[in-house]
Amino acid sequence: MKKNAKLVYQRIILKISGEILKSNYESEIDLHLLNRMIKEIKSLIKIGIQVGIVVGGGNLIRGSNVKKIGVSVNTADHMGMLSTIINGLLITDTMNRYTIKTQLMSAISVSGICQIYNVEKAIYLLSKQCVLVFSGGIGCPFFTTDSAACIRGIEVKADIVLKATKVDGVYSSDPKTNYDAIMYQNIKYEDVLNQDLKIMDPTAIILARDHSLPICIFNMYKSGALYRIMTGEQEGTLIIS
Ligand code: UDP
Repeated sequence: MKKNAKLVYQRIILKISGEILKSNYESEIDLHLLNRMIKEIKSLIKIGIQVGIVVGGGNLIRGSNVKKIGVSVNTADHMGMLSTIINGLLITDTMNRYTIKTQLMSAISVSGICQIYNVEKAIYLLSKQCVLVFSGGIGCPFFTTDSAACIRGIEVKADIVLKATKVDGVYSSDPKTNYDAIMYQNIKYEDVLNQDLKIMDPTAIILARDHSLPICIFNMYKSGALYRIMTGEQEGTLIIS
């Protein structure tokens, strides 16, 4: 930790999507990024930050894709939720290898593999510097793990939800196709919704807005970004009221 650096957040929820875990090669995991991410999480724990992770499953199964091939809505989403548990196992196993105290919880019961989500236990374990990995979304179809990140954030009274992405932050339009696109340092929940900026599921934005939970969209490929956010340096886009 830098001398005199003050921590801005104490308890965070980090949303890791399946997209982040995926390498450029079909159906493979980006081990380089995964290992670096876990090392960065370890250094946050060392400086006293409590970390909860909400994991997605889009690299394995996304409900909307399975629906397209005729699978019923509920089953497709159940398949999606199960895929988040598979990613959760990968993340907790990697953290164990880095000797980080960790626990995988799931919103749906998968007895013998991981614990069922319990908010009191989650808060207790977070306060003991155990990295909690929340999987299974919220356990209901029709939701996404973006919403799960905000719901878990509200429940465990996190200071912020950090969404790890492959882009630097929230842009006024797609920077790949529009050279005039500007990146916002801060943006209001309402503006993300009104401009339909598609950086996060709108249900998640509404939940965060209604509970005054800040969201930071940042680039996980930028080494040290997590730490810089923790010390209040400008990094990514902060979504606030
Ligand atoms: N899902 C669900 N309920 C939830 C969370 C997720 O039904 O509360 C399902 C949904 O089918 C979704 C899939 O799980 O497509 C994987 O989650 P998500 O798409 O949010 O993963 P990510 O895009 O973050 O990798």
